[in-house]
Amino acid sequence: MTASTGAFRAVGLRVDVPERHDRRSLSRWLHGLMTTSSDPVTDLVQAHREIHPRGDGALIRRAYLTAEQMHQGQMRKSGEPFITHPLAVARILADLGMDTITLVAALLHDTVEDTSYTLGALQSDFGSEVALLVDGVTKLDRAFFGEHAEVETIRKMLVKSGKDERVLIIKLADRLHNMRTLGVRSQASRERIARATMDVLVPLCDRLGIQALKRGLEDTVLAALEPDAYAAVEAHVNNRPEWNRVLNWTIDQVRKKLAESRIDAWVRARPRHYYSIWRETIAENKPMNFDLPRVVVVVDGPRTDCYTALGSLHSMWRPVPGRFKDFIASPKNNLYRSLHTTVIGPAGQPVEVLIRTVEMHHAAEFGIAANFRDPQAAARLDATTRAEQLAWLRRVLAWQDDVDDAHKFLDALRCDLAYAQIQVFTLDGRAVLLPVDATPVDLAYTLGADTGNSCIGAARNSRLIPLSSVLNDGDVIDIITREPDREPPGPSREWLDFVKSPQARLEITRWFQTRYLPPVSVAHRVRLGQAAIGLALREEGRSLANDGPLRILAEQLDYPDVDALFVAVADHRVSAHDVVARLIAMVDGAQTRRGY
Ligand code: MN
Repeated sequence: MTASTGAFRAVGLRVDVPERHDRRSLSRWLHGLMTTSSDPVTDLVQAHREIHPRGDGALIRRAYLTAEQMHQGQMRKSGEPFITHPLAVARILADLGMDTITLVAALLHDTVEDTSYTLGALQSDFGSEVALLVDGVTKLDRAFFGEHAEVETIRKMLVKSGKDERVLIIKLADRLHNMRTLGVRSQASRERIARATMDVLVPLCDRLGIQALKRGLEDTVLAALEPDAYAAVEAHVNNRPEWNRVLNWTIDQVRKKLAESRIDAWVRARPRHYYSIWRETIAENKPMNFDLPRVVVVVDGPRTDCYTALGSLHSMWRPVPGRFKDFIASPKNNLYRSLHTTVIGPAGQPVEVLIRTVEMHHAAEFGIAANFRDPQAAARLDATTRAEQLAWLRRVLAWQDDVDDAHKFLDALRCDLAYAQIQVFTLDGRAVLLPVDATPVDLAYTLGADTGNSCIGAARNSRLIPLSSVLNDGDVIDIITREPDREPPGPSREWLDFVKSPQARLEITRWFQTRYLPPVSVAHRVRLGQAAIGLALREEGRSLANDGPLRILAEQLDYPDVDALFVAVADHRVSAHDVVARLIAMVDGAQTRRGY
């Protein structure tokens, strides 16, 4: 283990890199490792500026002081002052390369939930961008939302993430730090939190492509659920001198060979994380030496250089048949591209090699967070790639609205996040991710509700197949839809017996339900209440420039937030006209006082 890896692991992420664009700051970086200042904010700002040299340190310091003051006197279960938690979350995000606003929101992320600080005050102190991020990770009030609070909180987080994906990234870092500090809790609550993490947050992390956080989450889950196995893996990793010798030898040889071939690249050890070793050895009843030494080659050049590098390594070491995978030509998902090969390396030992460009490496490590780490590189991405990165989130947001029952929503979400996925292609070459055992009907609904509802047949490689057929990874599928007006419209009830995706199930169920059900979900009630207030305002010939007055009114009326006020209006506990009258009095009163 190198010094750099250890240092990073201690603060948060197992990222064994100063990244390429940081190379010029390598000495600064090493200097930073050796001089740990006693002021925690200085360390945070330094870490932030390693990646964003123009990051706003003053703003970060102001956020820290506010958070420290608000959390004053609060302790974590471990007995440490509470402020250590938001600070650690901000540090994880700084190492991930997130922007200043994200770090500010991270420092303040628990203030609204746990202190007297209100969202309104936060918004006027730090602006609406920070307020949106903090609101997105603030739990809904249990007293107000009752037994559905937990599920509705996840739903709210996803809806806010649709507006700004940094909400989800902060939530993941928050959970990572909470998982790392689970030790002080009871075994039962450790297991409950670890399972919830594995169920929802790890797959979310995977969908967003943030491997740097996912590794940390998985390792903490393993430590909580299988402490003995975790200890066994740890002992194994810390005592394999021969494995390390082969690894270092491989790195040397690969560097030499690539230099000879005039390929500009950096080569590093890429050991699997503990969870990954466990999954491939202990969980499969295989010995732990099944875990091979692994290196990553990151080429500083076009993607064709990856293939040149591969050819040059295969000319030196014999590839193991069947182990070569080209995830550049056919990407695993929208965010992961690499060449994978296993070769018989030095001393006749098999070693794994991953080859990718700098851009691919950043995308693989940081996923959607890469857009914040290097906005210029993100701007170079074409619009389609950017849209596809969040396609999954958009899809969940499209169906979450239609699930009235909160627990049904969580089940659907879990199912959508279920680990195994296949990728199929449409005739026009569009790649679509589907759950394992998905059918043509699932594909049709993924392409759109209209396509699903008008689907009458499907063809695989130009041959018709039943709509209940199980699709395979890599299939090319043509969905045949009815001609408008010629055949009776709509899905068939039997489809519900075989569809796998929650989206298809929901759309089909929806088709057979009466079109206008009373709005019962919180999301519906929020919109209904909002619309009622909007109408009442219009009747008075007024409008609101922003929801500041609403926020103040919600606070005055003792609602936890504006959404709760909307729900109260939708439930007729408060009349929209009453709300509007108060708003007008408030706004006009303020103007009179200011002497308008
Ligand atoms: Mn927190």
